[in-house]
Amino acid sequence: MDLLWAPWRSQYIESYSFDGDTNCFICDAINDKSHDLERLVIYRSKLSIVLLNKYPYNGGHILIAPNEHLGEFEKISTETMADIMYLTKISIMTLKALKHPDAFNVGMNLGRSAGAGLPGHIHQHIIPRWNGDTGFISTICDTKVISEVMSKLQIAIKEEFYNQIQLK
Ligand SMILES: [Zn+2]
Repeated sequence: MDLLWAPWRSQYIESYSFDGDTNCFICDAINDKSHDLERLVIYRSKLSIVLLNKYPYNGGHILIAPNEHLGEFEKISTETMADIMYLTKISIMTLKALKHPDAFNVGMNLGRSAGAGLPGHIHQHIIPRWNGDTGFISTICDTKVISEVMSKLQIAIKEEFYNQIQLK
């Protein structure tokens, strides 16, 4: 499915070759904390990073990745995996509190053939779903229109994420 997200999408595709090794938007976000707003960073733990997907399936599509640039699931430490699952839980709580989705897709695409856009750096997807969110535009045009302003969404999700992690 193609997403209609013109300004960000074209910039994103031009900036990254998706080699998985040379250009990694996740490592860029991990290593340079001075552009967190543009890079839609939500949260950093000791082992992982939480950010919004700039190329989302739905508004509020969250990515969680280990700080280590690794493409193979089996190489991630148990401690890091536990951290990613903990942050997945907080992400779900955040999205439930803020956006009240009907359902979620949670998981990883491991390898390009499985649909990974960035196979060199594994990342967990948390995608909020609403009843009927595969609406007529998607069906007819194979395109989904997302109308939320990304920076507004990032600020709201970041604030709620910090609320939830304190409640926990
Ligand atoms: Zn990376």
